[in-house]
Amino acid sequence: MIDLHCHSSFSDGTDEPEALALMGDAQGITALALTDHDTLAGLPRFLAMQPRVSTRLLAGVELSCRYLGRELHVLGLLFNAQDSAFQAHIRTVRARRHARNLALVARLQELGIAISLEAVQALATSDLVSRTHFARYLVSSGAVANPQEVYRKLLGEGGSAFVPFEELTPREAATWIHAAGGLAMVAHPGRFAGGRFIWDEAMAELKEMGIDGFEAYYGEYSPTEQRHFLKLAIDLDMLASGGSDYHGGNKPGLRMGTGRGTLCIPDSILETLENARA
Ligand code: AMP
Ligand code: MN
Ligand code: MN
Ligand code: MN
Repeated sequence: MIDLHCHSSFSDGTDEPEALALMGDAQGITALALTDHDTLAGLPRFLAMQPRVSTRLLAGVELSCRYLGRELHVLGLLFNAQDSAFQAHIRTVRARRHARNLALVARLQELGIAISLEAVQALATSDLVSRTHFARYLVSSGAVANPQEVYRKLLGEGGSAFVPFEELTPREAATWIHAAGGLAMVAHPGRFAGGRFIWDEAMAELKEMGIDGFEAYYGEYSPTEQRHFLKLAIDLDMLASGGSDYHGGNKPGLRMGTGRGTLCIPDSILETLENARA
């Protein structure tokens, strides 16, 4: 059993990179990739745990892209984490995120909400501030009742405080990842609104843009979705990957490896990815 998608305290997960490595080992996971949002900063500490665990520890990243006017997350897997050009590209995404965060604070203030970037930053465990941290702040300050309300009313697409950041195109993300020797995979396609039908066409177009494959296994897919995406990968001759999207306490009930309980990603998925890259 493998897990190629999880988050540490270097993005919006709650566990330190070392704790993730130990958890993977304790749960008998054969290979685990750390895929923080728009940062490689947790990887040195994660990968340094390799001598202490039998789980294979792999570098990963989840890049914030936009496609068809919507958010699309692209996972980089099996790349060289030392690649300095890749590191520099990712820093440019961080700058775009910072500008978005400033605009988001201004928008929330316009709506009469008392908030500052410093107050939100204080809830983050690294210098990466995401909407997850904004949601935590808005709930803990009493401005909104719960995170679901935060996204529905304010921060989600269509919310009154939604501010997109100038995100990457999937083509650009794929180019960067390939140049660093890795594979570019669309994360959790089912979560990209538009339903399954549009996905079949969109994925074919994403393939033309250089995307290698997508998550056919995911911590929050139903068995039907998993079947659908496994078949779609075969039909489109694209690669299948999979992961839980474990975030620790920021996604309660979602476990590394097993997701909501039934996830089980076979080791052969990783073997196929490695053969494709070679
Ligand atoms: P950011 O990368 O800062 O734009 O924040 C993206 C993160 O916000 C996602 O990874 C989710 O954790 C969270 N998020 C965004 N929209 C929603 C939503 N509608 N429901 C729940 N979480 C969301
Ligand atoms: Mn996240
Ligand atoms: Mn994602
Ligand atoms: Mn994720």
